[in-house]
Amino acid sequence: MGEVLLALKDIRRSYGEGSAQVEVLHGINFTVERGEMVAIIGPSGSGKSTLMNIIGCLDKPTSGAYTVSGRDTLNLEADELAELRRNFFGFIFQRYHLLGHLNAAENVQVPSIYAGLKLEKRQERSLQLLDRLGLLERHTHLPSQLSGGQQQRVSIARALMNGGQIILADEPTGALDSKSGAEVIKILEELNAQGHTVILVTHDPNIARHARRVITIRDGIISSDEINEQVPDRRGHTEQEDEVNLQRRWLFSVQAYVDRFKEAYIMALRAMISNRMRTLLTMLGIIIGIMAVVSVVALARGASQKVVENISSMGTNTITIMPGAHMGDVRSNKVRTLNFKDLKALRGQPFVDSISATVSRSVYLRSGNLENQATAYGINTDYFRVYGMEVEQGRLFTEDEAEDLPQVCVIDYNTKKTFFPNEDAIGKRLLFGSVPMKVIGVLANKEIAFRPQDNLYVYVPYATFTARIQKQSYLSSVIVRVADGFATAVAENSITSLLTTRHGRRDFFVQSSDTIMKSINQTTGTFTLLISAIAVISLIVGGIGVMNIMLVSVTERTKEIGIRMAVGARQSDIMTQFLIESITVCIIGGLAGVVLSVGLGVLLSYAAPSVPMSFSVFSIVVAVLTSSVIGVVFGFMPARNAARLNPIEALARE
Ligand code: ADP
Ligand code: MG
Repeated sequence: MGEVLLALKDIRRSYGEGSAQVEVLHGINFTVERGEMVAIIGPSGSGKSTLMNIIGCLDKPTSGAYTVSGRDTLNLEADELAELRRNFFGFIFQRYHLLGHLNAAENVQVPSIYAGLKLEKRQERSLQLLDRLGLLERHTHLPSQLSGGQQQRVSIARALMNGGQIILADEPTGALDSKSGAEVIKILEELNAQGHTVILVTHDPNIARHARRVITIRDGIISSDEINEQVPDRRGHTEQEDEVNLQRRWLFSVQAYVDRFKEAYIMALRAMISNRMRTLLTMLGIIIGIMAVVSVVALARGASQKVVENISSMGTNTITIMPGAHMGDVRSNKVRTLNFKDLKALRGQPFVDSISATVSRSVYLRSGNLENQATAYGINTDYFRVYGMEVEQGRLFTEDEAEDLPQVCVIDYNTKKTFFPNEDAIGKRLLFGSVPMKVIGVLANKEIAFRPQDNLYVYVPYATFTARIQKQSYLSSVIVRVADGFATAVAENSITSLLTTRHGRRDFFVQSSDTIMKSINQTTGTFTLLISAIAVISLIVGGIGVMNIMLVSVTERTKEIGIRMAVGARQSDIMTQFLIESITVCIIGGLAGVVLSVGLGVLLSYAAPSVPMSFSVFSIVVAVLTSSVIGVVFGFMPARNAARLNPIEALARE
């Protein structure tokens, strides 16, 4: 008596629900010993495939007991059934069920990927098996480049890859011509002679005759179970290979895990490459989203860095006092309470280093036949000290002489260059519109914060300005340089309380480099937040796109999933494969977004140098992480759908 490998006891299988339920197998009982060659024969529709799927642990009986090598299969989980499929069974299907995008050798290797065999071993063994089946020189061919008989031999090699203790062949010759069919049967006989247990389903008695034991099934019931004495009895005969043990060793190691991961990755890349256009379109949402986020963050950073640079280039602490309750107050031009008395009162304060009224407007400067637009400032002499401006030629006007409304001006370096390029400017006349002014000083060339550099700036005494250029008796604004040793905030508070007392209400506002900084940070912050919100929406839309395509991909590849499950893929293997695919799409999309954004930065630095972009490694890392998170989140549902497919239903899909 040999070792009982498979034992079926009162196996029943029904399809459908409720009143539509139909029982296809009505209580099947038999056992198979190691080394047997069994043919299951019966007319079409008698339940042979249903029985075969139950034997191969692809399907579960509705009731009854089934044990594989002593192990009860009744309460096993999907992954435990997958393990049995990997370790005990090798499937041969009527329609071969090879993966179309893998070549012969790769198809043969698929079961061993899930069994955790090392790559070199895998390749070596697949070539050995193909050699044994006479297909060595065709190992790089795709299934579409092989004949039916050759494809079936590849599928036999695949069935043997994990050892194939029990070969299950469901109508293996059904799609083949008689010569190829005979070859396949001969191979199965040889395998049985080498110790493999073979169960063969057929409706053809001529094929069944090659098996020693023939079980006839009719309408879901065994009608006969006979021994064909012409075929030798090979029960208990074991000439099993050692490879199976070798595989186990690698199954639980980190190496095996990494290997499986790598395989999943390669499979994902292949799927992406074979659907290039679709992959690109899927990525687009992610690319745009990531590009938007990274660019906006870089722009905001660039802008605030520029402001910091500007402020620190000023080198001094200044506070500007302006009429109106706040910046942008629409009534500010009607507020006329700020006057010279305020200026005098402030000048006496200890925290004031220097102070000047300022008023400005744009004017047309003329000299001879030269003409240019400039910004004219009406100021006190102290103004030059507030900004740390120095005179290079001539002199500045004094406070005393300013009271007589002299028509004199101090010009900046650009103005001198424009109007008096090759001559001494001092003593020359400049027309401010129609008002003549005598140049008494030229300032040294110095960049002033927050002012366009290539403009022309000219300065006249405040009183002269308000009398001759723009008539007004109140001050447009006052600028204060805070004395060393005083904090800007303290000075700001003192100014506010002093002027509030004088005016009886706060009808002015102060602005310092601190407040400018703050408001710019606030603006860029709001701006960043706004664009980021848009970017997040676009990323979500992109993610939904990814999910959509992944669902399509799962549907399209249902058959492939079924095949992988039949050769022993766990649910987690299928899940990993599809998750990796969506994550890869998203990460590549994210990286493309980053690259495009940096490219945009480079382009912008040439096209518009005044709009700087400053990329931070942090934002780039966050962008790429975000895209992988999108991949996981939006890839999860499709991947889980794939992993939860029923192997039989998946295999039946075309
Ligand atoms: P065989 O392989 O012997 O031709 P099958 O096992 O494929 O027979 O089918 C046996 C019976 O079960 C047939 O009547 C078939 O219509 C039915 N059947 C098979 N699979 C399903 C299914 N998934 N749902 C409903 N009925 C099924
Ligand atoms: Mg069938």
